[in-house]
Amino acid sequence: MNSTINVGTGAFKSETVEQLSMNAMLADVQWQAVLARDAASDGKFVFAVSSTGVYCRPSCPSKRPRRENANFFETPQHAEAAGFRACLRCRPKSVSGNRRQELVKSVCRYIEQHLDEAVTLTHLGKEFRQSPFHLQRTFKAVLGITPKEYANSCRMRGFRQKLKAGQSVTRAMHESGYSSTSRLYSRTAAELGMEPGKYRRGAIAAPIRYACADSPLGRVLVAATDKGVCSIQFAESDEELEQGLKQEFPFAMRRRDDEGLSKLVQNLMRHMNGLEPATALPLDIQATAFQRRVWSYLQSVGFGETRSYSEVAKAIRQPSAVRAVARACATNPVAVAIPCHRVLRSNGDLGGYRWGTGRKKALLEMETRISTSSSRG
Ligand SMILES: [Zn+2]
Repeated sequence: MNSTINVGTGAFKSETVEQLSMNAMLADVQWQAVLARDAASDGKFVFAVSSTGVYCRPSCPSKRPRRENANFFETPQHAEAAGFRACLRCRPKSVSGNRRQELVKSVCRYIEQHLDEAVTLTHLGKEFRQSPFHLQRTFKAVLGITPKEYANSCRMRGFRQKLKAGQSVTRAMHESGYSSTSRLYSRTAAELGMEPGKYRRGAIAAPIRYACADSPLGRVLVAATDKGVCSIQFAESDEELEQGLKQEFPFAMRRRDDEGLSKLVQNLMRHMNGLEPATALPLDIQATAFQRRVWSYLQSVGFGETRSYSEVAKAIRQPSAVRAVARACATNPVAVAIPCHRVLRSNGDLGGYRWGTGRKKALLEMETRISTSSSRG
């Protein structure tokens, strides 16, 4: 996965978190195998010791290196390419890698990209043409944990990262793919070793500037980091907007800057009036892989058009993920710029809207009016 993808000109931060977590996870698991001199791990990777320049198979009887001197490589060839030589004692080259590891890697990648869904073993089995039992056993043999445990630890890492970025606990949980906040609060607390709120308090977040202005839907707040717009919200009053921003980024340095952000606000207004595509707004938002797919697709839905939740699910090639699509719409951090208001129920009902169905209705009516009058004229 690349670190940034462009949707129009609005850049999303991509799944670097999950990628890093996958590597860190794997290294942790491998280190445990080395400590345990786990012969079952022979052939799955080798570890190299930077202080001696030698690489070994996991079960090598030699003295264990310090953690910071251990490096992990998929194959002896990789270790040698990095300048290490084979240990004479355990002869790591006589064990070759195997296909199971490739399978498990693909499964990991799949799980990472579907963190906000409950991916079952049956589901994975179908996806990878394996019996669920066999898949679980292989996965566990290679990584030492089940696919479900792997998904959980990816979520936990994403969650930590988002807390560190200064997001609220509720939102960080939601966006890390946790489905039921209250049920999981205590468990995440246990895994973090402390209350999520306390964990987050240790974090330093990027400064955020914001502006409040009038819009056809009441007061609007546009907030941005140095990289782009991170929040667009509607409310009745500026107090309400500022309160909302505080909840969303409680530990960011928030500074009001109406003048500095006037261009962004004007862009947004021009977009709401059908004069400019939303892609004129640079975005700096965190997204899970799934949210990214949904949100990117939504940006392709034109002014004055609508889709149903199930059409969106089909369009991103996950026809059964209708509820997850609705959730991705409900967690859109940038109103209008990502036009989640253009998604309706299949029967034509409005469906929900983070900023109130009244505003959704007004927005859609406005867009219909503008696009019909411009196509006539
Ligand atoms: Zn050795």
